[in-house]
Amino acid sequence: MPIIATNPATEQVIATYPSHTPEEVDQILKVAAATFQGWKTVPFAERGALMVRAAELLESEVPSVAELMTSEMGKTFASAKGEAMKCALAMRYYAEHTEGMLQDEIIATKGSRSGVLFEPLGAIFAVMPWNFPLWQVARMVIPTIMAGNVVAFKHASNVPGCAKYLEDLFLRAGFPAGVLTTLLVGHDLVPRIIGDSRIVAVTLTGSEAAGRSVAGLAGQHLKKCVMELGGSDPFIVGASADLAKTVPMAVTARIQNNGQSCIASKRFIVVQERDSEFVDAFAAAMNAVRLGDPMDPATELGPLVSKSQRAQIAEQVAASVAAGAAVLAGGAAPERTGFYYPATVLANVPANSPAGCEELFGPVAVVHVAKDLADAIRIANDTPWGLGASIWAEDEREIDEAIAGLDAGMVFANAIVASMNELPFGGIKLSGFGRELSTMGLREFMNAKTFFVA
Ligand code: NAP
Repeated sequence: MPIIATNPATEQVIATYPSHTPEEVDQILKVAAATFQGWKTVPFAERGALMVRAAELLESEVPSVAELMTSEMGKTFASAKGEAMKCALAMRYYAEHTEGMLQDEIIATKGSRSGVLFEPLGAIFAVMPWNFPLWQVARMVIPTIMAGNVVAFKHASNVPGCAKYLEDLFLRAGFPAGVLTTLLVGHDLVPRIIGDSRIVAVTLTGSEAAGRSVAGLAGQHLKKCVMELGGSDPFIVGASADLAKTVPMAVTARIQNNGQSCIASKRFIVVQERDSEFVDAFAAAMNAVRLGDPMDPATELGPLVSKSQRAQIAEQVAASVAAGAAVLAGGAAPERTGFYYPATVLANVPANSPAGCEELFGPVAVVHVAKDLADAIRIANDTPWGLGASIWAEDEREIDEAIAGLDAGMVFANAIVASMNELPFGGIKLSGFGRELSTMGLREFMNAKTFFVA
């Protein structure tokens, strides 16, 4: 089946790409595995020089690649440009730091020399989502390739242009064919690729359902895997929060990437003493969010990625309202071309309604009121996910209590949860396992080889 890219703002088909046949997939894996044998011996400095060249090319092409991203999945043009620049920054960061991050660890024992050294594993298979069509891939691929592995990735079926762009970028920068290859296939071919003996490890960024399937297959074939899955991140407003700073950040935390981010804040938990003060200002600010053409610089919220994604969020809101939730902002899709849904705030949400227990992958915020900070942390932890979490407070004691008490892979204070080159990224519980970025992420796809000399 061909892979079809549709513009979510216009509902028009932009381009159609032929899928790779099983024979072409076989050839891609063959080249990747063969390329690894040479690539793993290339010195860090040479790998880094190619990565810097890729960064330079990308930086010179930001407007055109950003337009491609916006046209394929609807993110605002401004955020697409920021995402492209973030990828270039990561290329420069790992070009410079990977060698230092993978130094041997010397561990004193009764031997004369002992410790751990880190060697690349081989051809890694990555299954990737559409929501940050460059960054999700870049975040995994850049460190993994700098470490001496090669990557074959299957991007989400709605962003084939971005997948091809990344593959071409690496080739134009001078990387050998097979270091980074895109597999233009539907997810029906994923089991076959995971089972292929030339693939040594697997990663997926995406939904819980896809994670269960891919991690299950990796387990069956006894291959290392990393899972970056969904979340319902809490945004806790503490008693000492500075609301003038916090409210605009709450809006951005929810509507970033048109509300379609795994680490978007989805549940806003405010302590009782700041309840109406925060909720009234937040609902007013969400009501004022400008919805529109993602290419227009004035737009803050573009369309959702697809008709089905919009239908899902609309159904989740409608069912929650039918169960008793109150709508404080938004709540109904506008009559216009494009898969638009407005910034929405729900309160008094029943725990067993969709907004009370499902991930909301669109610009819909749920507000909860807590008795105090301990109660806010309890509500925040009462979820099957554990990706990111944030605490908004001026009092250091409140910040420390939240960092210690929240069950999440990442806790940010007075800042929106974000991925950074220097820090590990990943979750716990149903949000997945393993880490990307930083030294921890770099080591996921390495053989930590113990050595001991008597
Ligand atoms: P998705 O449906 O799981 O798709 C992600 C990728 O998985 C796509 O390449 C998709 O291929 C593939 N896929 C889907 N079902 C599969 C299956 N059964 N077996 C193998 N591969 C499969 O997720 P999405 O709707 O695009 O993205 C939204 C979800 O991803 C949300 O839950 C979000 O929170 C999560 N996410 C997590 C992170 C993180 O870093 N933790 C980042 C971004 C998104 P096709 O496109 O061909 O179906």
